[in-house]
Amino acid sequence: MAKQTKYIFITGGVVSGLGKGIAAASIGLILKSRGLSVVNQKFDPYLNIDPGTMNPIQHGEVFVTDDGAETDLDLGHYERFTDTSLSQSSNTTAGRVYMTVLQREREGGYNGGTVQVIPNVTEEILRRMLLSTEETNADVIITEIGGTIGDIESLPFIEAIRQIKYRVGEENCCYIHLTLVPYLNKAKDIKTKPTQHSVKELQELGIQPNILMLRCDETIDNATREKLALLCNVDKDCVIQNTTARSIYAVPLQLESEHIGDAVCKVLGLETPPTALSEWSKMVDVFHNPKDKVKIALVGKYVALHDAYLSVVESLIHGGIANELAVEIDWVDSEELTDDETARNRLKDADGIIVPGGFGTRGIEGMILTAKYCRENNVPYFGICLGMQIIVIEYARDVLGWKDAHSTEMDKETKHPVIDLMPDQNGKILGGTLRLGKFECAVKDGTKTLEAYGTKTVWERHRHRYEFNNAFRSDLENAGLVIAGVNPERNLVEVVEVPTNPWMVGGQFHPEFKSRPNKAGPLFREFIKASYKNKK
Ligand code: GLN
Repeated sequence: MAKQTKYIFITGGVVSGLGKGIAAASIGLILKSRGLSVVNQKFDPYLNIDPGTMNPIQHGEVFVTDDGAETDLDLGHYERFTDTSLSQSSNTTAGRVYMTVLQREREGGYNGGTVQVIPNVTEEILRRMLLSTEETNADVIITEIGGTIGDIESLPFIEAIRQIKYRVGEENCCYIHLTLVPYLNKAKDIKTKPTQHSVKELQELGIQPNILMLRCDETIDNATREKLALLCNVDKDCVIQNTTARSIYAVPLQLESEHIGDAVCKVLGLETPPTALSEWSKMVDVFHNPKDKVKIALVGKYVALHDAYLSVVESLIHGGIANELAVEIDWVDSEELTDDETARNRLKDADGIIVPGGFGTRGIEGMILTAKYCRENNVPYFGICLGMQIIVIEYARDVLGWKDAHSTEMDKETKHPVIDLMPDQNGKILGGTLRLGKFECAVKDGTKTLEAYGTKTVWERHRHRYEFNNAFRSDLENAGLVIAGVNPERNLVEVVEVPTNPWMVGGQFHPEFKSRPNKAGPLFREFIKASYKNKK
């Protein structure tokens, strides 16, 4: 008999920002620990086709998958918690759905019929929701619906998850509704009314939640749970509290102490071994009880919104866990660094410095001053994507004396375009498309990079348009810059190192997308180690 895939749908109520993504990722981890194969996916009701072109200061980071999809940052949580690589089909926006429907309409795909939200848009949502089932054959698909119940734009998605039970069988569907349960300090009272209203709204849309997940700052007493169970038509065992945890990685442990694994498996008729989180719990223990700490300055142009660097921050934490260290991040706006003096003053307390990815001209000179400060003062420096290009520009300017060296992204006229578009990209829109997704990197002997990875073939994910310009490669190498990794297929420089500094490494790729809390990205692990050595 063919395997029956089970479906979990997570919706949010009352307010946004309750941590649906973390909850969905936690449930994924819990079910995986019970021996099930799990795939998480997210459906976002906004009209952008994907987050690729959205401003990081507004929307947070763009998470990139192996297959090169530019996705919502919640996919990063899913991957980090479940250690499963996701794909393009794991993130769908309303924009993508509508685009498909409208293209089909233009091509005559509806045979002159009227094209409507119901059934045509909902049909396309359903098709995409079930795509992961075909592609992955997972035991459980966990689908998070972005937004909050009551939003106009999420209605077609809610209608789709209502209809889906007629497609796959009601017994194979579990609806989880996450709401806020506020605690009124003055009245010393926990308030259930917002949850009742939100569930009522969901019921009006035809969905009866199986499980209520209650976000709260205080412990929810038994009487309140019973009241909510009764008034919302939910089993008492299915009222799960989700209190504010010490860290996001503690959330699965907290939810499991509420027996969420049992609750979900009961609803879905799944028989599995019990939840097994002992390794995860050990990792959380190390995270919460570090031996010491390191201070890392993160120099970037999107520091106004920390979520713009979400995966980088998590990866630094992972590097900390691997070294039993807490990582304190000092957020530095690169525009504040205007000359050697301001850079030194602002950066002097950092044990190590990271310059992550970015696009455009703003804030670039401050990053170059940062690389110079690190190179001249032997402070560990980790450059990611743009941060790697910055190493090359600084090296060309200050070591080779090419004062105008630059990337053609910022200066089209420079005589020393050390970072440039590749010939095969020229002439395309925006000067060439992005290099997206995973690519191979052959690592050279005797490098910090090889020391970190311990293997000569590395696959990391990319998201950039410009590349190290091979026309200047021998000059830079002769001046001492080490080319530590190259993409064998196109001979593109992937990693550079400055050997005079104890740890100055830049990768054209984004290793933050593959780092996991219990399996830190090797470069993050080594960067934190070097930074701690520098502190000592
Ligand atoms: N702006 C640079 C490029 O397009 C770097 C991109 C990045 O850091 N992700 O090549």
